[in-house]
Amino acid sequence: MRLASPILKRFIYPALAKTGQLRHRSGAGPAIVTYHGVLPRGYVVRDRNADWSMVRPESLRQQLGLLKKHYRIITPGQFLAWCEGETDLPPNSVLITCDDGMQTAVTEMMPLLADMNLSGLFFVTEQALLNQASMLWHEELYLMLLTAPERISLHLPSLGIDEYASGRMEKRDLWWKLIHELSKFESVQRSRLIDIVSWQIHVKPNWKDAYAEDPVLQSRFFTLNLQETRALLEAGMSIGAHSLSHPILSQASSDLAWREIAESKHRIEQALRSRVWAMAYPFGDIGSVGLREVGMVERAGYSCAFVNFGGGFGAPQNIFAMQRVHVTGDMSLSEFEAHVSGLHRSLRQRFFQKLPTLAAAA
Ligand SMILES: [Zn+2]
Repeated sequence: MRLASPILKRFIYPALAKTGQLRHRSGAGPAIVTYHGVLPRGYVVRDRNADWSMVRPESLRQQLGLLKKHYRIITPGQFLAWCEGETDLPPNSVLITCDDGMQTAVTEMMPLLADMNLSGLFFVTEQALLNQASMLWHEELYLMLLTAPERISLHLPSLGIDEYASGRMEKRDLWWKLIHELSKFESVQRSRLIDIVSWQIHVKPNWKDAYAEDPVLQSRFFTLNLQETRALLEAGMSIGAHSLSHPILSQASSDLAWREIAESKHRIEQALRSRVWAMAYPFGDIGSVGLREVGMVERAGYSCAFVNFGGGFGAPQNIFAMQRVHVTGDMSLSEFEAHVSGLHRSLRQRFFQKLPTLAAAA
C-alpha cells in the first residue's frame, strides 16, 4: 500500500472526487469520522508523527463543508437512536467524533460546528473533569523525551526496560515501549514512574512551563478543564468516555481495565449530570482493544464503542467496535472523501493488507 499510496493520493482519489464518483459508493453506513483536535493558529508543526493527529482549522472547515454539502451529517442523538434499534438512519449518514478532549475542541471545533448548525460526539478522559487544564500523560512523555538530551539511557527494572536511545526515531520507539509498560499501572503509580523517567533522562523539573506559559502551545498540548467540557455540552455537543486515564487497555489487568471503562462513564455522568452512552477506546488501534474490552464496555452499560481504524461506508458493523476514519493533518480533501466513502479501506483490504478483524469477529 505504501508504494501505491502516492499514486492513489495524487491522481486516483482527486480524479474520482472531481467527478463525484466517490459519492456513488456511499449509502451503506453510517460512516464515522474522528478528529483529535485542531492545530492552533500560529502553531508551527514540529513533529509530523505527533502533530498530524490534528488537522488545520481550514482543513476542518473544508471537510465539514464537503460532508454537509454532499452527505448527511447526523447528530449524536440520531446515532444513539439507531444504535438502540429505535430508528433507521438516512442514506449517506456521517457522524462526527473527536477524541481526547483537547482545548481546541472548544476553541476551534465547537464554534465551527455550531456555526454550521452541526453537532459532534466528543470523547474525554477524567482530566477534562478537573478544574485545571493538564497534559495527557502519553503526550507529556513524548515531549519529555524530545526535550531530553540527544542520547538518553533508561534503567527501569520494574518495567523490564534497560535501554539507550539516540535521536528522534529511537526515542519514539522507546516512547511506544514505555506507553505499553506504563499502561499496566493506575494513574498515580504511572505518574511516579514518569517522574523517575524524567530524572533519569535529565530533563529540567520545570521543562513543562514553556508549554503552560505560551498560549499557542497550551492550546495544542493541554486538555479541557471542567468548565470547558460543560461548555461543549451546553453548545449542544455530546460527551462520551475515553477511559479514566488513557492507557492501552489491552495492557492493563482485568481489574484496571474494568475500572478505566466503567468508572469513567460513572464519573463523567456525575460531573456533567448527563448520560454517557458511548466510549472510544484509548489509542484505538487493533493492538489496544480485544474481545475482553469489547465485553467490558457492553457490561458497563454503554450503548456503543469506537475503534480508530477502518471506517467509511460499508465498514463492518459491531456497535461495540465501530470502525472510524481517523482524519489526519496530512490528508487532502479528496483523500478524506476516499476514506469516508470506504474506497480506501476496501482497496487496502482487497489488494494490499488484510485489515484487523476484531470488529467482524466480536
Ligand atoms: Zn485518545
